[in-house]
Order: sequence, then structure tokens, then C-alpha cells
Amino acid sequence: MIPITIHRRNALQWLQFGLMELFRVLRAFFSGAGSRELSVTRYVEANATVGDPESVIETMDEYALKHRFLMNVGEEKGEVLVNALQGEGPTRCLELGAYCGYSAVLIGKEIALKGGSLTSLELSPKNAEMARRVVDHAGLTPCVDIRVGSAKEQIPMLEGTFDVVFIDHWKDDYLPDLRRLETLGLLSPGARIVADNVGIFENTLSEYLEYVRTAEHMESTHYATRMEYSDSIEDGVEVSIWSPPARLELT
Ligand code: MG
Repeated sequence: MIPITIHRRNALQWLQFGLMELFRVLRAFFSGAGSRELSVTRYVEANATVGDPESVIETMDEYALKHRFLMNVGEEKGEVLVNALQGEGPTRCLELGAYCGYSAVLIGKEIALKGGSLTSLELSPKNAEMARRVVDHAGLTPCVDIRVGSAKEQIPMLEGTFDVVFIDHWKDDYLPDLRRLETLGLLSPGARIVADNVGIFENTLSEYLEYVRTAEHMESTHYATRMEYSDSIEDGVEVSIWSPPARLELT
């Protein structure tokens, strides 16, 4: 079971969401649509303008609203992510969890013209293949490198430092992977750590949130939003500014 945080105030919205998804799953099954990841990739390739990241984003949003829910960062939370990318010069970005490439396109679109780059780590080889196809359709392959494997295995192989990290993979891994990035010296001074879904996974992410909100070398801001493709379920994004700590405790 997905460890979402259900309160009395959002239980009805989750029930409505679950019933709608059940209907959509059954509809996809009986129409032979295949996996939603493959389906959205084909939808992008058939409908989005080649080389136009904005068109790719809009087409993925359209698919998620009309056909199947996709765990993309979406429009409202995407704005928070894009704001964290603003800065002088080329931005080196790292993403934990590519899924189908939505946020890779969103990030790539912002940083490509300033010579920035994105390394995206994705556990599922199938999702990574879909993300590569979507990124390629958007014309962003030159600045987006999607690597297959767990973040735990991949992070030690990274080189240099990152200015922005977007964390959107397994919720249990947010804190250990952030600590890994810190202890391996992979963060630039002033790095922005953007964590998705801190509302709907509030309980699972409680230790992550406590860490970024209380550590002396982090300055953290919470952005209350709606969940992607929902106008009623509450979610949130946490943006934490990282400074080199005086003394980093290894865990
Ligand atoms: Mg997410």
C-alpha cells in the first residue's frame, strides 16, 4: 500500500480520487491501452511538437487529466521547482526519480539556454526508457542525462557538485539520499534541495522534514500546494537551502 497520509479532512477527496482511478484503470484495461507510462510516451510522440518542451509538458498534463493519473510534479508544484532553478550562469541539477521525464523536461527547458545540465537517476529501466524518449522528443537530450539504478548505487558515482537537487523518488529514501549527497561532498554552497510530495506523504517524510527544518546548515521553506492534477487534495513542496556545515556528522 502507498503510505499516503490520510486525515479526516482529506479522506473523502482520496476516496473520490481512488474511484476515478479505478474507473480509468478498468477503461484502460478493456481498451488494451497498455501501461500508462508507455501510453503517455506514445501520446507525447503523437501529439506534442518535436523540439518544444512547453508542448511536451502541456501534452503530458492533458494526458494525465483526460486518461490516467501520472505522478508528475504538475503545474503548481512545477512553478516552485522552476523558481528554485533561477540563478546566474549554468545550473548543475540532479534529479532523484525521473519517472516518465516530465520534471526532466521542465528542468531542461529552464537550464538549457544557460548551458546547464541535469543528471536524473531512475530505478526502473522501463521508466528510464520512457523518460529518455520524452526528453528526446522535447529536444533536450544534449543537456539531460538519465541514468538507470537506485540512487543509493548511483550517487557515489556522481562527480562535481550540484546547485539544485529535485527529490521525487521513494519517500523512505529522501533523507538517506540527501545525507549521502552531503557526506560525499556533492552539493554546492547555497544548493537548493527541492522535495516533492511532502504533504501527501507527510508521515513517511517526517524525519526528512525534521532534518531540513532543524539542521543549522539548512534553511527550509514549505510551499503548500495541491497534489498534481487535483483541485482538492493538499500536497506540498519543501525547498531547503544548503550551506556547508561547520562539521558534518556522518551517519
Ligand atoms: Mg512527486
